[in-house]
Amino acid sequence: MKVLVSEQIAQKGIERLTQEGVSVDVKAGLSREEFLKIIGEYDGLIVRSNTQVNEELYQHAPRLKVVGRAGNGVDNIEMEGATKRGIVVVNTPESNVVSAAELTIGLMFATCRNIPQLHNRLKERVWDRAGLKGMELQGKTVGIVGLGRIGSLVATRMKSFGMNIIAYDPYISDARFKKYGVEKKEKLEELMAQCDILTVHTPKTEETYGIIGKEQFKAAKKGLTVINCARAGIVNEEALIEAMKEKIVKRVGIDVLEGEPHATSPLLDLDNVIVTPHAGADTVEAQDNVGITVAQEVISALRGEIVPNAVNLPTLPMQEFDTIKAYLKLGETLGKMYYQLEKEAIEKVEILYRGEVAALETSVITLAILKGLFEPVLKERINYVNANVIADSRGVTVTESKESTVKNYLTLITLKVISKDKEFTISGTTFGKGELRIVEINGYEFDVNPTPYMVVAENHDKPGVVGQMGTLLGVAKVNIATMQLGRKLTEQQAMMVLAVDSVVTKETLDFLGGVEGILRVRFVKI
Ligand code: NAD
Repeated sequence: MKVLVSEQIAQKGIERLTQEGVSVDVKAGLSREEFLKIIGEYDGLIVRSNTQVNEELYQHAPRLKVVGRAGNGVDNIEMEGATKRGIVVVNTPESNVVSAAELTIGLMFATCRNIPQLHNRLKERVWDRAGLKGMELQGKTVGIVGLGRIGSLVATRMKSFGMNIIAYDPYISDARFKKYGVEKKEKLEELMAQCDILTVHTPKTEETYGIIGKEQFKAAKKGLTVINCARAGIVNEEALIEAMKEKIVKRVGIDVLEGEPHATSPLLDLDNVIVTPHAGADTVEAQDNVGITVAQEVISALRGEIVPNAVNLPTLPMQEFDTIKAYLKLGETLGKMYYQLEKEAIEKVEILYRGEVAALETSVITLAILKGLFEPVLKERINYVNANVIADSRGVTVTESKESTVKNYLTLITLKVISKDKEFTISGTTFGKGELRIVEINGYEFDVNPTPYMVVAENHDKPGVVGQMGTLLGVAKVNIATMQLGRKLTEQQAMMVLAVDSVVTKETLDFLGGVEGILRVRFVKI
């Protein structure tokens, strides 16, 4: 077996490959032309983020069985081409979580005890602690936003320092909060009002970008310490500077800055801001872990074994892939709708396959549904292969059932999401050459072609509401492509699904929400 390593990985990873009898060529910095000339000799390829693994490459690589991405994001790897050819794509999402959690904690100590400032004074031969009195952590409250892998590591470690831990993460079940002994906060403002140290650990999504902003600082306890070791902009930098001026925020520890890798952020000019240059994953252990993990995964894939971090679905033969492709897309679409329409943490997922789809290998469609369900809140962390494991680790039970026939349709998939106080259902079908239709949401029936941008609204079923929605969208210069209305006559309620040509801003949504008769309105991106 021959593996080409086209970007630098830790030596320990190379050693692992050779120990297992794999012949390894490390050739970083090849021109694309040279690279394409030789890739045909290899069974495996290891890349970081610079090598473009695309159709052109696949066509030159008839022997390729596995692509290993040393790191997280897989934006440089074209997934469908790999899946069609049975090429396994693997990555290493878990390798740096301990390092990131430890840097977060390091920044807590550094900020609360002014370690860099005291260090700098003494290095300049000034023995003076004046104005730099520290704060003990014991007995204080840490507020964690995002209780995922890193957030929960921070929680368990900070408990041993005698701190109270509270967290805001509306997307995980109460059971997980209990497991980590963390007090759940239903509202972010509640967390802000109670914590002495705020630390954010969410991915960067549309919802989390700027999630800590002006309003949140207004609700904060005076003298707050703010730590951001997640992604730049989750804490809005302008609002943070303002909150420091107003003495709401006293200390800041930051590993991720707007404009990075350029050192342009105005935060850099402030004395009580301690910064590191996105060094969360920059430890010998994390880099070794990445190298060893990717090597191990590539070896497993070459041996045809199950690979825990495979990102695509390599086990489907080409023919079956074509049949199931539309269902995967439908499943993912149905899943994606949930967290964009509802905010309740998922406790149970029930999937019913009826008609033609019931005869297929539905377990992979279930994975696609789970991927869709969690993607809006976990981003690239979730993939087809780990979707089940992630659901399980978040305390979500998943059940699947099948019926060979179904009334009115040839094929129908119904997803039921059960949360603490609610049940949500959505059903969809396919027809023709993989056309998708959403045919039911929470008992409202329609025939909706899911499009990239949609507005979903529930309203009292009375004259004038639909017209006003159209007018307001028009004023906001949002073009409506199609509109579907589902009605519940007995309840005199209706649901509108509007396919629109562009993004609808929060402001416009607030306007729409204010229309008399509108009960709820949401913007959905597929
Ligand atoms: P994770 O996916 O395990 O956890 C993220 C958590 O955020 C999930 O539990 C999710 O439910 C929650 N969440 C999503 N949207 C939310 C919202 N609107 N409000 C509250 N909670 C929300 O991710 P992780 O591995 O713990 O990583 C956390 C962050 O750390 C990511 O942004 C990641 O990119 C970053 N990171 C940074 C470094 C670094 O070098 N500084 C290294 C590793 C990871």
